[in-house]
Amino acid sequence: MRRRYIPQPRSKFLKITCECGNVQEVFSHATSRVTCRVCGKTLAEPSGGISKLYGEVIEVLD
Ligand SMILES: [Zn+2]
Repeated sequence: MRRRYIPQPRSKFLKITCECGNVQEVFSHATSRVTCRVCGKTLAEPSGGISKLYGEVIEVLD
């Protein structure tokens, strides 16, 4: 399982690709767990600041 840390001081929306191929927008500072709406896998979980991300970040939305 791969984690990607995005060093950004501001919160952003990120587009993350799940292992199942679903692309989902995730808030970079999510305060609750975000799961894939297709397969239910955890895509992001809160870690006190920027979220821990599980999946490939393909785009950062300002
Ligand atoms: Zn999925």
